Amino acid sequence: MSRGVREERRLNVAILSGGVGGARFVRGVVDVAGAAATSVIGNVGDDVEVLGLHISPDLDSILYALAGLADEQRGWGRSGETWHALETVRALGGEDWFALGDRDLGLHLARTQALRAGEPLSSVTARLAKALGVATQLLPATDDRLRTWLETPAGTFPFQEWFVARSHRDEVDAVRFEGEEEARPAPGVFEAIDGADLILLAPSNPYVSVGPILAVRELREALARRSVPCVAVSPLIGGRAVKGPADRMLQRLAGGTSPRHVASCYPGLIDALLVDGADSDELDGLGDVRPIVTRTLMSDDDTRRRLAEVALGVVPA
Ligand code: GDP
Ligand code: CA
Repeated sequence: MSRGVREERRLNVAILSGGVGGARFVRGVVDVAGAAATSVIGNVGDDVEVLGLHISPDLDSILYALAGLADEQRGWGRSGETWHALETVRALGGEDWFALGDRDLGLHLARTQALRAGEPLSSVTARLAKALGVATQLLPATDDRLRTWLETPAGTFPFQEWFVARSHRDEVDAVRFEGEEEARPAPGVFEAIDGADLILLAPSNPYVSVGPILAVRELREALARRSVPCVAVSPLIGGRAVKGPADRMLQRLAGGTSPRHVASCYPGLIDALLVDGADSDELDGLGDVRPIVTRTLMSDDDTRRRLAEVALGVVPA
C-alpha cells in the first residue's frame, strides 16, 4: 500500500475487465491506486456450466491474480495446481474438454453450492474475494444470466465451445449476448461507476470480454453519461494481439487493427486510448479520442505499474 503514489488523494477508479489480460492491468492499477480505491467490474459472458458446476472464468482470473494465486507461467488458473479430479473424470468417460484443476475445483464447488441455494453471483463473489484476502471490490457486471455466442461460418457456438473446444479457430461474423435485454447491473455497479474519478477499460478483448459488460444496457448508459474521463488500453501491440483472437476479430468485424479500429468498439464511451509505441504512426481517425502513446506490454510488476501510472495520470494529481 505504501508505495502507491496516489494513496493520499484517494483517486477512486472503476475498471471494466475480462480475464487474464485484464487481470494483469487490474493488478497494476491496484498497486498504484490502492485496493480500497479500486472497483473491478468483470465479464460474465464467458460463464459456463461444466460437470454441473458454475464456472466464472474471468472473475476467477481477476480473483486469483489479486490474491497472488495465479499461475503466471501457464498464464491462467492457479499456481501449484494438480489435475487428479479431471484425470478421474477422463478415465470414467466424463466431460473433460474444459480444464479444471483440483484447487480451482474447490472454488467452483463452493460457488455452485451458494448459487444453488439462491445467493446472487455478486454476493458469492464478494465472499470469495474476502476469504482470499482480496480487498479490491470485484463485481460481476450482472447477476442475471448473460451468455456470449459467436456466429461463425461453421455455425453458432456458445463462447467456451468456440474458445476452448474449437480453439477459437473459426472466424467470427457476429457476437451475440443471450439475456442482454433482461440483464441489469449487479448491486454496486452503479455506485462504482458514479463514485469513480476515473473509469478504465482494461486491455481485454473488446468483443468478447468488454463487449458483454457493455451489453448490460443500464451499465453502458451510466458510462455514456459519465462526468469523469474514461480511458481504454488497447489490447493490440503493433496491430497484433498479445494473446488470443482480438486482432483477427478486429480485422474482420471493424475492418482493421489500428488504434481507430479499437476505439470504434467504444463509440461515445472513451475519452482517451492508451496505445503502444509500436502503433504510434497509426494515430489518425481517432476523432475526439485522445491517443496516449506508451509502453503497453505488461511482463512484470514494474511494467504493469508503469502502464497503470500513465492511465491514472489522465486525471491530474
Ligand atoms: P481473457 O478473458 O482471459 O481472454 O482475457 P482478456 O480479454 O481480459 O485479455 C485478453 C487480451 O489481453 C488480448 O487481446 C491480449 O492482446 C491482451 N493483452 C494481454 N497481455 C497484454 C499486455 O501485456 N499488454 C496489452 N496491451 N494487452 C495485453
Ligand atoms: Ca474471458
